[in-house]
Amino acid sequence: MNSVPGAARVIVIGGGVLGTMHAVAARRRGFEVVQLEREPDARGASVRNFGLVWVSGRAPGPELDLALRARERWAEIAAEVPGVGFRPHGSLTLAAGDAEMSLIKEASALPDAPRRGYEVLDVAAARAVNPALRGEFAGALLCTRDAIVEPRAVPSALRAHLLASGGYRWLPGREAVVAEPHAVRDHTGEWHRGDLVVICSGAAYTGIAGPHLAACPVPPLRRVRLQMMQTRPFAARLTTAIADGDSMRYYPAFDLPGRRLLGPQTPAAARTRAQLLLVQRLDGGLTIGDTHEYDEPFGFDVDEDAYDHLRARAETLLGAPLPPVQRRWAGVYSQVTGDELYHRAQIEPGVVLVTGPGGRGMTCSPAIAEETFA
Ligand SMILES: Cc1cc2nc3c(=O)[nH]c(=O)nc-3n(C[C@H](O)[C@H](O)[C@H](O)COP(=O)(O)OP(=O)(O)OC[C@H]3O[C@@H](n4cnc5c(N)ncnc54)[C@H](O)[C@@H]3O)c2cc1C
Repeated sequence: MNSVPGAARVIVIGGGVLGTMHAVAARRRGFEVVQLEREPDARGASVRNFGLVWVSGRAPGPELDLALRARERWAEIAAEVPGVGFRPHGSLTLAAGDAEMSLIKEASALPDAPRRGYEVLDVAAARAVNPALRGEFAGALLCTRDAIVEPRAVPSALRAHLLASGGYRWLPGREAVVAEPHAVRDHTGEWHRGDLVVICSGAAYTGIAGPHLAACPVPPLRRVRLQMMQTRPFAARLTTAIADGDSMRYYPAFDLPGRRLLGPQTPAAARTRAQLLLVQRLDGGLTIGDTHEYDEPFGFDVDEDAYDHLRARAETLLGAPLPPVQRRWAGVYSQVTGDELYHRAQIEPGVVLVTGPGGRGMTCSPAIAEETFA
């Protein structure tokens, strides 16, 4: 789409998925877009995540609505930009025993279960959906609305599409340091002026977002650190994403009476607040995580006990040894502390900060960007 002469101009700060989805949403409206990223390429949470477009665990009400709108937008975007690697494969949450199975049944009896595409499956039915599951589990929750994208490819694929369609400039290696009404100055001294500046600086709480965040009487955001790993290609093809029963301890959709009846986690899982999420990449490798660290300063190293736990849990469910691990990393996301779904604030006239979607940012970014321009 070419720019309309005299079209509005939007400056986007941040090259992660949230900033890039704002660039996509702005171009969709015919606005001219300039996008700045302080690193040579996206390096934050957006390229470190599972790439799960995760509807199944969202809280009922506005959070589920936002995720479902975003899920629709992901499918539309993928039709134009196949490089994002969108697969509408759904997910299976696998129960280890009776208490987890009861919680699955409780969640799937709720009125919004059909919107999530929930279906309770016994072991044979779960294996029919995903034949790679040859291990031990008691049953499963299928969520047909969940989907997968390729996190390492998403920002660059979207940018290539934007660059090809015109009206878009990508400025890597530029850190926005000062905001003034309708403008930002980058570290080279260049000013970038627009009708709207959208700052999607992720978990960077000093720098350009710092003065606004420091002035908030109650911190609206906190950071969360997660550990992840990726294996070499797994021999079998996984037809869905996989979660273990521990995931129901973290996702708000399962905040139901049955959650209080779940037994204790293993000591390593409890200490690192682990849940198993497992996604097969297009090359066959398995992205496996995660853990949750809330107290800063975060460790600068990774905890091997967490990886041992996640590996053992994955092997129990798959009934097969995992291939060797090829990569380990940690990532940090920005999460709102209150009831809002993400943090949006005008920090100067014509300058908005959008961050804090937490562990749902990859999922919800297309819908959040649409809300900014709505
Ligand atoms: C390990 C992990 C797994 C996750 N899994 C999932 C998942 O499967 N599904 C899901 O929905 N969500 C998931 N999330 C959450 C999701 O990744 C984040 O919510 C989302 O990526 C946030 O996107 P963002 O663009 O705001 O932040 P980021 O990706 O961190 O991008 C912010 C960018 O802004 C740049 N920047 C900062 N300050 C400036 C400045 N002053 N000037 C220029 N550039 C600047 C940074 O360099 C960075 O590239 C996960 C997160 C992590 C860490």
